[in-house]
Amino acid sequence: MANLLELKNVSKVYSRGLINAQATIALQDMSLTLKEDEPTIMTVAGESGSGKTTLAMLLLGFITPTTGEIIYRGKNITALQGEDRLAYRREVQAVFQDPFAVFNPFYTVDHLLTVPIRRFRLARSKSEARGKMDEALTAVGLRPEDVLGRFPHQLSGGQRQRINVARALLLKPRLLIADEPVSMVDASLRANILETLRNLQRDHGVSIIYITHDLTTAYHIAKSIIVLYRGGVMEAGDVDAVIKSPQHPYTRLLVDSIPWPNLDQRWGAHPIMAREAAGGRSHGCPFKSRCPQAMPVCDTRPPLFEIDSRHAAACYLYDKQPKVQAERLSELLPV
Ligand code: SF4
Repeated sequence: MANLLELKNVSKVYSRGLINAQATIALQDMSLTLKEDEPTIMTVAGESGSGKTTLAMLLLGFITPTTGEIIYRGKNITALQGEDRLAYRREVQAVFQDPFAVFNPFYTVDHLLTVPIRRFRLARSKSEARGKMDEALTAVGLRPEDVLGRFPHQLSGGQRQRINVARALLLKPRLLIADEPVSMVDASLRANILETLRNLQRDHGVSIIYITHDLTTAYHIAKSIIVLYRGGVMEAGDVDAVIKSPQHPYTRLLVDSIPWPNLDQRWGAHPIMAREAAGGRSHGCPFKSRCPQAMPVCDTRPPLFEIDSRHAAACYLYDKQPKVQAERLSELLPV
């Protein structure tokens, strides 16, 4: 089965300063595969500074990897030219956090939707363009007559975000990078937008990389999850297994901070330092300065260890388990 997307040992390092330049590793040795014929929703979760937005920027081709390769449908995205580049721009779309950011307050919704139609020559006439707009808006649960002809300030945040999804859908994407798409939307509308994304995957065959700091929404939308911390994969696997039975001390911290509506769930069951201890970034496990179970061996960066066939954690607490090579990570992620 052909691959839609492959990340091969991708790292991104930023350097600061000319003299005594300091390097910041934004993403380290990330490998990932999405199959063409198995559209899925995969969550990449972590706090700010975890590398998840760097990953989104890399996937969209806004920045290039320092090392490693990103392969889209068999071609390295940094070398794409002409028609291949245009196809990539069309087939890999994004929905960002701020539903206001892409709207120009002086133009109606119609303008936002006709720009990609013209740019990618998706219609030969105005009526065909209107038909495509209607189709995309309907697919995200909006009635065209409710939103077309309106200015951004006349729409709710939820409507604006769904229009952003409709805009992406117009281009018949194969892959959608959804970077915190519900974090600025009212809680009452979040489920609605998540359902819209799920429909895209199920009914339109779009694979979605859902990037978030919020494990609750991840749990509701995704099949698989990768938890990042300081650019490294801490834990990965089936979303149910990782969130219901987190193994890495960092994931336990994240899960423990979810306000589950369950009276049997003990709040604060895992005592982990909220703040980073003095010393900052270590050369070993990136979580060492916050981890109550840190051991001398943690001065060396841990590899991923296989907890079971659909779950892995990068932590020496599991060093009796088999190691998982970075390239094999996708085998543990259900679709
Ligand atoms: Fe804690 Fe060590 Fe595991 Fe890192 S490798 S999470 S420091 S126990």
